[in-house]
Amino acid sequence: MNVQNIMTNLEAKHPGENEFLQAVREVLESIEEVYNQHPEFEKAKIVERMVEPDRVFTFRVAWVDDNGEVQTNLGYRVQFNGAIGPYKGGLRFHKAVNLSMLKFLGFEQTFKNALTTLPMGGGKGGSDFDPVGKSDAEIMRFCQAFMWELWQNIGPDTDVPAGDVGVGGREIGYMYGMYKKLAREYNTGVLTGKGSTWGGSILRPEATGFGALYFTEHLLHKAGKDIKGLTIALSGFGNVAWGAATKATELGAKVVAISGPDGVCEIPGGITKEMIDYMLEMRASNRNKVEDMATKFPAAAKFTAGKKAWSVKCDIALPCAFQNELNEADAKELIANGTWCCCEVSNMGCTPEAIHTFQTNGILFAPGKAVNAGGVATSGLEMTQNAAHISWSAKEVDDKLHFIMESIHEACVKYGTQADGKIDYVKGANIAGFMKVAQAMLEQGVC
Ligand code: GLU
Repeated sequence: MNVQNIMTNLEAKHPGENEFLQAVREVLESIEEVYNQHPEFEKAKIVERMVEPDRVFTFRVAWVDDNGEVQTNLGYRVQFNGAIGPYKGGLRFHKAVNLSMLKFLGFEQTFKNALTTLPMGGGKGGSDFDPVGKSDAEIMRFCQAFMWELWQNIGPDTDVPAGDVGVGGREIGYMYGMYKKLAREYNTGVLTGKGSTWGGSILRPEATGFGALYFTEHLLHKAGKDIKGLTIALSGFGNVAWGAATKATELGAKVVAISGPDGVCEIPGGITKEMIDYMLEMRASNRNKVEDMATKFPAAAKFTAGKKAWSVKCDIALPCAFQNELNEADAKELIANGTWCCCEVSNMGCTPEAIHTFQTNGILFAPGKAVNAGGVATSGLEMTQNAAHISWSAKEVDDKLHFIMESIHEACVKYGTQADGKIDYVKGANIAGFMKVAQAMLEQGVC
């Protein structure tokens, strides 16, 4: 394989799909050496096939807002790679959603899902619908209209959507209600992230954040460090940031900053249980303003407009919001302020330049597809429970999540340990995920 040739062809075929091209380049550069040791991959054109989705659905979503006006959005589902299991991955509702974003997320999901040890292919979907400022009734009508189109392309053994940015338990509930009506079957396992009284995994809301902290603990442990007493700055205040703040605090770390699109809240004394609970209200309000935290807790949190979490002094940075939210300048600022570890919790949260800056400065860095895989892994556990018509306790799910995150960490160490003994977690995660999918594609022939 010649990465440059493949990228040149892909750029010509999909001009302007910048996030997608960025994600593909990162993976191909990491796997190039290993790939070229396997002539059977080259012969079967595994990479050339793997960079194109199995199929993509796009559709119109028309709905009526509270003023009685008709609104039209775009809906998508990208079924990226089904070599190791049914397509699995979230739905993102955000005004910036386009095909490039969902192709990048579906591509990443393919390798992430392979890392989880569970049999799930990669998929992603969503809409350019903007939940900010929408009423609950508008959210419901949009979710119903979205599912009206999507329902025939999904199924418990076909494609299983879940949440992502802008889609949580509430949205999954509204979408499931409509699915059930259209399909005239209960099909519990068609979506994950459901309510815990109707088939949802009891730990799914916490799972991405909890899993990220379990992975971070393993990484720190391997480096001879302990999380207790360390300071953490994180971005976002959605479901993922909430889970991460909860577990980090429980493990004895101090979350000293959270941020939003409007700015950063510094919390010098560390986030409290009450503040973590309030994050849920902030998300449900659809205001998308982190300033609300400082308004509610003026003595503990100080809001600064226009600043990112990466401007706050901390030991560990945890991007938990959106792709490319931490750039080279942010990485430099963090390093100058003494940060020595960054675990990407969002999908592709750091730009390639930021990752390069971390790695060349000896900062411990781990990529999203390993760190945040606990979310989709717990979705996989939810699918298992649904298929078997059983339900596990929080402890049972948490034990399994622990085991999965440890396995992912071990896989990164196995494939990412360099000649000098240092661990390149980016390489490790990409190679481990790739090998599993590539082997399955090879065994299934050209299709
Ligand atoms: N959206 C999450 C992710 O990026 C979870 C997907 C799922 O649970 O299917 O992995």
